[in-house]
Amino acid sequence: TDSPLTEAELASAKRAYELDRKHVFHSWSAQEQLKPMVITRADGSYVWDGEGNKLLDFSSQLVNTNIGHQHPKVVAAIQEQAGKLCTVAPQHANDARSEAARLIAELTPGDLNRIFFTNGGADAVEHAIRMARLHTGKYKVLSAYRSYHGGTALAVNVTGDPRRIPNDYGNAGAVHFHAPFLYRSQFHAATEAEESQRALEHLETAIQLEGASNIAAIILESIPGTAGIMVPPPGYLQGVRELATKYGIIYIADEVMSGFGRAGKWFAIDHFDVAPDLLTFAKGVTSGYVPLGGVAISEEIYSTFAQRPYPGGLTYSGHPLASAAAVATINAMRDESMVENAASLGESVVAPALARMAERHPSIGEVRGTGMFWAIELVKNRATREPLAPYGASSPEMNELIGACKSRGLLPFANFNRIHVVPPLNINAEDLQAGLAILDEVFDLADAHVQG
Ligand code: PMP
Repeated sequence: TDSPLTEAELASAKRAYELDRKHVFHSWSAQEQLKPMVITRADGSYVWDGEGNKLLDFSSQLVNTNIGHQHPKVVAAIQEQAGKLCTVAPQHANDARSEAARLIAELTPGDLNRIFFTNGGADAVEHAIRMARLHTGKYKVLSAYRSYHGGTALAVNVTGDPRRIPNDYGNAGAVHFHAPFLYRSQFHAATEAEESQRALEHLETAIQLEGASNIAAIILESIPGTAGIMVPPPGYLQGVRELATKYGIIYIADEVMSGFGRAGKWFAIDHFDVAPDLLTFAKGVTSGYVPLGGVAISEEIYSTFAQRPYPGGLTYSGHPLASAAAVATINAMRDESMVENAASLGESVVAPALARMAERHPSIGEVRGTGMFWAIELVKNRATREPLAPYGASSPEMNELIGACKSRGLLPFANFNRIHVVPPLNINAEDLQAGLAILDEVFDLADAHVQG
């Protein structure tokens, strides 16, 4: 074979698969319907599977490997920190954690100068909501139907994605509303301006009907990721900021997926010139090399806990290996202009390529995004906009597309009826074009399912 893996590596990959099927219990899955791909190696924008096939990673794993795989400076920083100090309890101070906090405070908007570290995104959301509740003395949380905020108890309840439904025991004070999404407008809007205005009127009505005196927080992904990369129309997030201020509600921007350069700015909210009261981050902060998340906190909310204890914490808050990975990731992103690369290739390569595909393929209902953060919405019928796969489910049509991508050397990110284009931020133009060409080819398969 032409596999770059040695016989021993091939045997080890086979054993990894067999043991996985015997002993590993996977997220969000019917366990016996799974055939997980073994990943044996990775480098930059590429991964290798258990047979040694090389795949272009258009998923960045779970939209987290923003600096690509195995960045040598970040690997070295983790190794160096491991040689020096592997663990520090949260109540002590540590140079890696202090420097990570300084850098994150510098990058986040407004006066979000205080950083609480978590292990990932869901616990960042849990803590942001807890801070908002303690700060306001109120309990309800408003969030969008088309959203994902994490898999833990409260985070999954504020999530709108259908994965909330089997986890919903009616607790938590979670209340959902419709955020703008012109392609599937809930407001019968014809333009972005109308969509924005009507979505803000709807949100204000929801606040009044739920009772501002009960609402602690509004949590919104600045550009919703898992739910479909709907870039909000101009004016919407400013309007949310104004409503939050008017009604004494804490505005939490969830930047777990959209942050750290993904959308072509350090944070997606920077596109809109808005500062939230709390900002949650994870994924890109370390590119996923070591798990880390956190909450960036405004001075006002910080002041609530200046003399009164914050009743919450985690053993691994600001773990030294994760903090060292964050410092090295942020420095690598800056030194190698990765955010600028994502913004410029998004505009010069992805946007025109997707626009051409949308013209060529009747199965493409809409393309949208910015930076290295794009969604292709597939439909069975352009006129009715009926999705290629039902909301909240997988489908044979989408599985066929995913298989066709993999057999052509592309690892895609797919969700319901969408393919997302979310490669590493430092992908080069050539690889990006090659990946897009594969997508263009496989959408012929989707076109075959188009009716009308
Ligand atoms: N918020 C958003 C916007 C996310 O995209 C995710 C993860 N996809 C989370 C929260 C949860 O993060 P984690 O899986 O690290 O808990």
